[in-house]
Amino acid sequence: MKWCIDCGELKPLSEYYKHPRMADGHLNSCKECRKAYQSSRPYAKEYERQRNQMEKRKAFHAANLKRWRRENPQKLAVQLARRRARKSNAEGDFTVEEFEDLCKEYGNVCLRCGDKDVLLTPDHVVPLSLGGSNRIANIQPLCGKCNSWKNIKVVDYRHGVVPLEATLTT
Ligand SMILES: [Zn+2]
Ligand SMILES: [Zn+2]
Repeated sequence: MKWCIDCGELKPLSEYYKHPRMADGHLNSCKECRKAYQSSRPYAKEYERQRNQMEKRKAFHAANLKRWRRENPQKLAVQLARRRARKSNAEGDFTVEEFEDLCKEYGNVCLRCGDKDVLLTPDHVVPLSLGGSNRIANIQPLCGKCNSWKNIKVVDYRHGVVPLEATLTT
């Protein structure tokens, strides 16, 4: 038992929150008083309100972003390619619209395998790692599979027919 320094009542230790730095291992004001104190602080409530709001907003944006990514996989692919290009300090930039126009120009098919109805990703004809630019002039639409297959090879599929197996340059 000990006296609460706030309400002055004698209460069993179980009525006090534990605290490792206190001599008897418990706070000097009882649970009831601590609770009253916590909820009386106006900023605590305001803080909680704001935090809740922020979390709601975050969740909303995350859900939106998720949906956007699901509904715009091609735009997402362009964004990712551009981000990679920025990271590697490549010269130039291209827009989603430019890439979409390019895809349309080539009939919305993968220029290597000819697949339709696939997600087209921007491939750098001359890879960035070999000094290729990030301009639309250095971009060709390939499906994900062909894009990763091509990797750092220099192959231009845009002009004329390039036989699938004769495309290895090195
Ligand atoms: Zn008390
Ligand atoms: Zn392909």
